[in-house]
Amino acid sequence: MRCERRLQLERLTMQFITFLLLVYSAAYQTVEPCATVGQEGGTSTDTLILCRACGQELAFGRDMNFIPSRLALSSRNDTSVGGRRVNVQLFENPHGHRFEVITFRKADVALHWPADKHFSWFPGFSWTVATCPRCAAHLGWAFQPSTWPDTITKTKFEESEHTFLALITHRLLREDFASSLLMTPKSFVS
Ligand SMILES: [Zn+2]
Repeated sequence: MRCERRLQLERLTMQFITFLLLVYSAAYQTVEPCATVGQEGGTSTDTLILCRACGQELAFGRDMNFIPSRLALSSRNDTSVGGRRVNVQLFENPHGHRFEVITFRKADVALHWPADKHFSWFPGFSWTVATCPRCAAHLGWAFQPSTWPDTITKTKFEESEHTFLALITHRLLREDFASSLLMTPKSFVS
């Protein structure tokens, strides 16, 4: 009986070790593609920027346009969202919530007029909330000259060179990064 129990214990230990090996190798394979993407960084302006919540296509890398604000708490370069180096600014709202944003010339987002002139992060500009047109997630804010009427048409906003958007960095996703997560692991390819 004792001998049988020891054998059983040994078998269990072996099963546990095999399980651990499988888990570790699987984890290593998952991490690898991400690291490769991070190192390459990419310079393509064709990189699609997606809504992190639902995958909706929002903009291209080339739509990013750095608009510095003296009200930003800090400003830094980042390559994880845009592919190329983009400037990320940190802002704080009146409730003490902080947001890291990237400014875009344009993006396919839903805007919610009327615009508000108060507490604007960009002096001289009024803001409206910008949400995802598919899943309605809050993605950031749109800015228009504060001399404009509070409510304007979408066409006027899109056609003007004086309007821009500030989208929250961690609510966005790069398409090539998303694809790398969905890639079939090499071990499953026959
Ligand atoms: Zn979405």
